Amino acid sequence: MDDAASESGEQGVAVADGDALDTVELPPPGTARRGRLRFSHPALADWAWPYVAVNGATDGPRLALLAGVHPAEYPAIEASIRVTRDLDPARLRGSLVSLPVVDLPAFLPRTPFVCPIDGKNPNRAFPGDPAGSFTDAMNDAIFRAVVAPADALVDLHGGDMVEDLIPFSIYSVSGDAALDARSAAIGHAFGLPYLVASTPRRGLGGTTVQAAAAVGIPGIIAEAGGRGLLTEPETQLLVDGVGNVLRHLRMLDGDVPPAAPVEVGRFTWLTSPAEGMWYPAVAVGDEVAEGQTIGRVGDLFGEPLAEIAAPHAGHVLFVTSSPAMRLDGLVLAIGAP
Ligand SMILES: [Zn+2]
Repeated sequence: MDDAASESGEQGVAVADGDALDTVELPPPGTARRGRLRFSHPALADWAWPYVAVNGATDGPRLALLAGVHPAEYPAIEASIRVTRDLDPARLRGSLVSLPVVDLPAFLPRTPFVCPIDGKNPNRAFPGDPAGSFTDAMNDAIFRAVVAPADALVDLHGGDMVEDLIPFSIYSVSGDAALDARSAAIGHAFGLPYLVASTPRRGLGGTTVQAAAAVGIPGIIAEAGGRGLLTEPETQLLVDGVGNVLRHLRMLDGDVPPAAPVEVGRFTWLTSPAEGMWYPAVAVGDEVAEGQTIGRVGDLFGEPLAEIAAPHAGHVLFVTSSPAMRLDGLVLAIGAP
C-alpha cells in the first residue's frame, strides 16, 4: 500500500493514493483514498479497478457505490466520478467506497450488457463465484471487497448503448419486510420519477441489489440516461440522487426533498416474436393501454412480420432504441402498480 499523500485543490481534502488487494481498507477519518483495487484470484490478475474510499470525520454507515456494471451507461459512471471527487470527508458521517467501473474489461471496447471475456452479463451473476468464469470471479471479488462490508448499496445504471429509458430506481423484494422497507426508503430518497419493486419471480436473478438483499444489505439500482450518450441532466439526476441517499442515511446534513415516485410492482419485459427491424410506436414515459400496439417488427424486404401489443396498461419505462432485433430480443418494458 502506497500512502504518499497529496493535497487536492479547492477543499484542501487530503487524498492519499494507494492500491488495495482483495479488501478496501478505509483511510484515516476525515480523509479520502484513491487507488487501484487488485485481486489475488489468478483470473483477475491482469486487471486493476479504480476505487475511491472516503472516510468521514465521524462515525456512521458505510455505503457501497457501484457504477459501470454496464460500462456503456455513461451518466452513471460520470455521476460516480463526480460524487466521490466532490464529497468532503470532513462533512461525512460514516464512509463511502466507490467503484466507477465494475465491468472494467467492457469499458474501453464499449461492449454493451456483457463482459467481453466470457460473454456474461455481470448483473445476472451476483454475488458471483470464485470457481466460475471471469465474470463470476470478478463479481465474487468485488462483492466481497465493496458490497459485503457495506450497510447499504447504490448501484448506478441507465439505458445501455441500445436502450432509451425514463429514470427509475429498482429495489429487490427479498421477503424480509423490514429490509425491503429500508430499500424502498432509499429508493424514495433517491428521488427518481418511478420506483420499481422487483420480485425475483417477476424480475431477473443475480442482480447487485438482489445479492445484497440476500445478505441483509438494503439497496437500489438507479437508472438514468441511455443510448451511449453522456448527457448532463441525467448525470445530474444521479449525482443529486446519491446526495439524497447520503442525507437520508444521515451521512450528510440536510433534508431530503420530498418525492412521490410512481410505484411499480408489475414490471413486464416484452420480447420480439420475430427477427428483423424493430419499429417502436411508443416512447419512454408514455402511458399505454392494455392491447395497444407498442411497436412492430418487419423483415429486411419491408414486409411486416409482427405487431406487438401491450399485455396490460402501464408506463413505458425503457425501449430498445436499436432497430436490429433478434428473435426473443428485448423490445421494451412496461411498469404498472
Ligand atoms: Zn445497466
